[in-house]
Amino acid sequence: MEMGNIKRGRYAPSPSGRLHLGNVCSSLLAWLDARHTGCELIFRLEDLDPERSYMDYARLMAEDLRWLGLDWDAGWPEDEGFAQGERGEYYAAAFAELERRGLIYRCWCSRAERLASRAPHPGEEHPGGCACRFLKGEALSERERGKRPPAFKCAAPDRDMVIIDEHFGEYSQNPAREGGDFIVRRSDGVWAYQLAVSVDDMLMGVSRVVRAADLLSSAPKQSWLIETLGGTPPAYAHAPLLTAPDGRKLSKRDGDLNMAELRRLYTPEQLIGRLAYLCGLTDRPEPVRAAELVEAFDWAKVPLGPIDISGVF
Ligand code: GLU
Repeated sequence: MEMGNIKRGRYAPSPSGRLHLGNVCSSLLAWLDARHTGCELIFRLEDLDPERSYMDYARLMAEDLRWLGLDWDAGWPEDEGFAQGERGEYYAAAFAELERRGLIYRCWCSRAERLASRAPHPGEEHPGGCACRFLKGEALSERERGKRPPAFKCAAPDRDMVIIDEHFGEYSQNPAREGGDFIVRRSDGVWAYQLAVSVDDMLMGVSRVVRAADLLSSAPKQSWLIETLGGTPPAYAHAPLLTAPDGRKLSKRDGDLNMAELRRLYTPEQLIGRLAYLCGLTDRPEPVRAAELVEAFDWAKVPLGPIDISGVF
């Protein structure tokens, strides 16, 4: 995994289902952003949660992206070290560093723990600060004696943090008050999303993060974690969400228009053409190859969304 001065973007899908139209849209924008800015692209498999990661989906994701004409330069499965499930030693080292800085505490609460290893989508953020951080004396000993092993949380900074998103502009957040302390390791030992993604973006030399807008609220935390661990935070550009005609965000869990169906209905050029039109990159939803969109790609043309797909899909 050579870093040097190479500029890098990334795909970072979780193999919990087939890619849906919203994932495809973010992947297209990640690819266009990277190719337009002269970045390499990597494919990182975010398979942290053993209960929700399926290798068949992972293989299909890679295959679907290739079918669309969206390629990458390094990553899973050809290259080693690009699947989060194999990267525990790096997360452990970062964890030790955070612990050394006094930022880690044990937490015995069960709420939301289940969700910690996957990226928080709206409504799933787990408000953090909990009484466990301040447990002392008998109350602490009682928890320590209990059967339930603790999860580990990181204390979020209590100050306004600003990131400049290249699409959404200035985004400010006080991580301690919005979202709060966050789990970095679940009680079953599984590393959690916020730590893993920050460590990987840092160690993999990712300089541009393009992903769906529902993760914009995670960017200040991740940027802070990377700085705390001695790295340089990437630039962020969040892609608009796509919504179904009833206003719902498309999601893998709801079985929305996924690649199995999309590949039956469209050619790669037809699919890219329709997405490019929804993203303001073309005037008509006509077939186009992704490569033809690189030169004129500009975030200023892309709506902030959410984008209603009706009438086009
Ligand atoms: N693995 C996450 C997802 O598929 C994306 C995480 C990220 O891009 O930071 O939702």
